[in-house]
Amino acid sequence: MTHAELAKRHRAVLPEWLALYYEEPIDVERGEGRHVWDAEGNQYLDFFGGILTTMTAHALPEVTAAVREQAGKVLHTSTLYLNRPMVELAERVADLSGIDDPRVFFTTSGTEANDTALLLATSHRGSNQVLALRNSYHGRSFSAMAVTGNRSWSPTSLSPVQTAYVHGSRRRGTPLAELPDAEFTEACVADLEDVLGQLNGNVACLIAEPIQGVGGFAAPPDGMFARFKEVLDRHGILWISDEVQTGWGRTGEHFWGWQAHGAAGAPDIVTFAKGIGNGLSIGGVIARAEVMNSVRANSISTFGGSPITAAGALANLDHLITNDLQGNAARTGAVLREQLDGAVGRIPAVADVRGKGLMIGVELVRADGTPAPELATEVLEQTRRDGLLIGKGGLDGNVLRIAPPLSLTEPEAREGARILLAALEKAGQR
Ligand code: PMP
Repeated sequence: MTHAELAKRHRAVLPEWLALYYEEPIDVERGEGRHVWDAEGNQYLDFFGGILTTMTAHALPEVTAAVREQAGKVLHTSTLYLNRPMVELAERVADLSGIDDPRVFFTTSGTEANDTALLLATSHRGSNQVLALRNSYHGRSFSAMAVTGNRSWSPTSLSPVQTAYVHGSRRRGTPLAELPDAEFTEACVADLEDVLGQLNGNVACLIAEPIQGVGGFAAPPDGMFARFKEVLDRHGILWISDEVQTGWGRTGEHFWGWQAHGAAGAPDIVTFAKGIGNGLSIGGVIARAEVMNSVRANSISTFGGSPITAAGALANLDHLITNDLQGNAARTGAVLREQLDGAVGRIPAVADVRGKGLMIGVELVRADGTPAPELATEVLEQTRRDGLLIGKGGLDGNVLRIAPPLSLTEPEAREGARILLAALEKAGQR
């Protein structure tokens, strides 16, 4: 069956809003290292890792072996019985968390993790009034959509929580974004104070991504969340760091995205998903015990942290740490930046290259400076034809997103950058 036939069947039976990448969507059949192959045998260098779900490498043998072994032993999944891989993974995650007296709860996705974090914070504080950043993305459950500031990913305005949005990530082209770092931070802090003044009541939490993922890899200046925390602490408001994209060393410089803000920026709750499972469906929440245990009724996630996904995630984390893939993200991310940064000023459509480690955004604009989503689509199609998979995002769909598996090699970084630069040079010339 060809891609075209499968895409036709997909469209006939799945929802219209389940968008597919590419004019001719691809059917990824196999992966190894940083490469994938489609069902027609075409090879691609993968710079998106299925939206950052492949953290270490495709088909990592240690993960495959752990999953195979566990699946061959026991397939029952409920967390009602003791589950060795889950306990071991929880201990590992707790050790790595940077949170005092941590407790860990596993879920099946980032959405379910954020939903749980909101449950914890609202229960702990006895309020369903929450804060989120403008342009954020936190998932697709009813409450995760209700804290998603990017309205094109939030299909309902009905809401189980009352959300107020504050400034906190640099969106190019807005007056705030042009400010120097320190002034930008203080303007965001002033906005936070202003919003809190208007709410004038019991606020449960702030939920935010240290670097906005779907929002186009946009980040605030380092240290901003520490300044936010000073304000939040005065009101007893909890801070939830959504590390679904930024966790596990992806930013190169730190293990968690929030650490760019220093120890004073430490969150009360961390959520994670995607990369920890290297493709397996696992996410979770880390919180201080008093916050985690503020939920009094029973609650289980039948599949969250099942023996199979927990065993796979444990093998994945071991590989990540043993091989210092965080260090590798810093090194190969620097190689990519060396290649790509020069595009600003040289290729007119490239307005900005930004990000940290292996989380790099390339923002495209038209000659008049307005966002160019059509160029982003054109570059995505061209790079695919040339054997490179990348992502896109941003509030206007005009930011290319680069987030390869963290085991990326330097030659692969150079090869991907070469293909991308050639496509950028060609864009808009047809
Ligand atoms: N938070 C962030 C920052 C995300 O990027 C995503 C997924 N794009 C989610 C939450 C939701 O995760 P999932 O799709 O696993 O539910």
